[in-house]
Amino acid sequence: MVDVAIYGLGVAGATLAYLASRAGFKVVGLDMSPVYRKACGDVVTLRGYTWELLRATGSLLNIVRRFEVRVGGVEVAYLDLGPVWAMVDKPKLVNTLRSMAVVEGARVTVGKGVPGAGVASIVVDARGPYAHNPGGSVLTVRLIAKARWEDDLALLDFDPANIGFYWVFPLGDGRVNMGSGFKRVGDGSLLKLLTLRYYRRLAGEDPVVLDVRGAPVAVEAPVRLVENGVYRVGEAAGLVSSTSGEGNRYAIHSAIALARAISQGRGVDGYRELLGGVLDEVTLSRLLLRLVEKLDPRASTKLLESLPREFWAYYFKGRLTRSTLARIARGEPYTLILSILRGLSTA
Ligand SMILES: Cc1cc2nc3c(=O)[nH]c(=O)nc-3n(C[C@H](O)[C@H](O)[C@H](O)COP(=O)(O)OP(=O)(O)OC[C@H]3O[C@@H](n4cnc5c(N)ncnc54)[C@H](O)[C@@H]3O)c2cc1C
Repeated sequence: MVDVAIYGLGVAGATLAYLASRAGFKVVGLDMSPVYRKACGDVVTLRGYTWELLRATGSLLNIVRRFEVRVGGVEVAYLDLGPVWAMVDKPKLVNTLRSMAVVEGARVTVGKGVPGAGVASIVVDARGPYAHNPGGSVLTVRLIAKARWEDDLALLDFDPANIGFYWVFPLGDGRVNMGSGFKRVGDGSLLKLLTLRYYRRLAGEDPVVLDVRGAPVAVEAPVRLVENGVYRVGEAAGLVSSTSGEGNRYAIHSAIALARAISQGRGVDGYRELLGGVLDEVTLSRLLLRLVEKLDPRASTKLLESLPREFWAYYFKGRLTRSTLARIARGEPYTLILSILRGLSTA
């Protein structure tokens, strides 16, 4: 009998397939795509094991140090944080992890399936956003383009009316990853046009588009680590930030946590414990999204404009939890941050 059956070999599934087979488990992984190509902003926050994984797979492209935050085109924060983000060749990251899993003895097959308890001792849903109802997802489109851009600078520009943001991230070799995703825009062609128009306004010229791809982000998915006897990792577990769309780091961390829990013979409680602050970060992001949805665009704009530098530093470093937010609010008693906390406590 197979020890571990994994449905979906994206970031989380491929990491888990590699780690579980390396730990000596008999692993079978299934993915509907023989080659991983899914759209992404290609950012991995450099925390803990992400460095190791990027090095092992040779997928690191560039480092982002500087961050500019805009709201409706107007700069509200600029931060030089040092090496905080990695830009990665994400298809290379995932496809190399799949190959590494095979080298460790995993069997990888191509096909579409729905995970159900009983096919293996441990069954894992790693189908990413496709594990959820599309109603709770935001369609997001990214363009890879040749464009003039500073190669350590990331730009986020929030649009409170449509609930989402534009981004421009440097791939470091004269190419950028730019894109957009909004709760209130569900049309991929429109997102592509909006992104191109955005960049034209920003830079005064058109980029040379090399590739366009879109995919959903399950920003409203419930956080569930196990359901009906099936474990969940990555975005299938709801581990994606509702405010930044970040999911890669959570996918990696959840795969590592589950691989450890399995190796130590611990169940879902061990898995939950090993996930640590990740659950708090994601829960906070859900609450913040809910709060922003309740505000009108003018109030959201005011809120975003008033957030202190520390808020954005925690946000980009992937350290925005309920306790870090409370710490900022104590140090700088911004009325709007306190109103967030009040909103959270009554949510
Ligand atoms: C445009 C865009 C930009 C993004 N930018 C960033 C970013 O810059 N940084 C960041 O951290 N996150 C970003 N995200 C989110 C991030 O891409 C995901 O959260 C992350 O890929 C989740 O990893 P995962 O392994 O859970 O799922 P995925 O990487 O989505 O992998 C799921 C896998 O399951 C397979 N699959 C699905 N259904 C089935 C089935 N029925 N049977 C078999 N296989 C199946 C798919 O083929 C896929 O390979 C972005 C997302 C999008 C769409």
